[in-house]
Amino acid sequence: MQSLPDSTNRLIEQLSRLPGIGRKTAQRLAFYIMKSDNEIASNISKALIDVKEKVGTCTECGCITEIDPCYICTNPKRDNNILCIVEEAPDIYAFERTNSFNGRYHVLGGALSPLDGIGPDELNIESLTKRIHEELEIVIATNPSVEGETTALYIAKLLSGYNLKITRLARGVPVGSDLEYIDEATLIRAMEGRTLV
Ligand code: ZN
Repeated sequence: MQSLPDSTNRLIEQLSRLPGIGRKTAQRLAFYIMKSDNEIASNISKALIDVKEKVGTCTECGCITEIDPCYICTNPKRDNNILCIVEEAPDIYAFERTNSFNGRYHVLGGALSPLDGIGPDELNIESLTKRIHEELEIVIATNPSVEGETTALYIAKLLSGYNLKITRLARGVPVGSDLEYIDEATLIRAMEGRTLV
């Protein structure tokens, strides 16, 4: 039986390591890349190297950025008195797409999940307490999942000792969904209708 060339197998193997890409899709992508112009392959490899070399994490808010602190943290037009807490960096871009939030963000880097060994020490919670100041409103925008709820309650309790306004996104965000993939209208309604904790 004639097997695939080694280099082709290696490409399929690497592509199939990516999330959401099964062996079949990896094979289709590999064949597409092999058939297309050299330019496509070199652009893809350049883009991959670029993101690894240039993109890092904002030491202030935890979003992904090419400059540190990021554009959101350094933008003087953003409201310094409202801080939206999200689980992951892509959630920020979901809010940014709505064009309806002008505060700043804080990325936790996940949600509490004792079964997976993720406790408060694994999340960016300590850096959150350092960002607290007077007249700050904290909007807890964790995902509507069991872990997101647990995290929201933990943060609300942790911050209850500070003299802060703490709010949560309004219900209406479908339970079990990921903020990152929620449509903009729903996200705007959830933010506008946020309620006091
Ligand atoms: Zn930032």
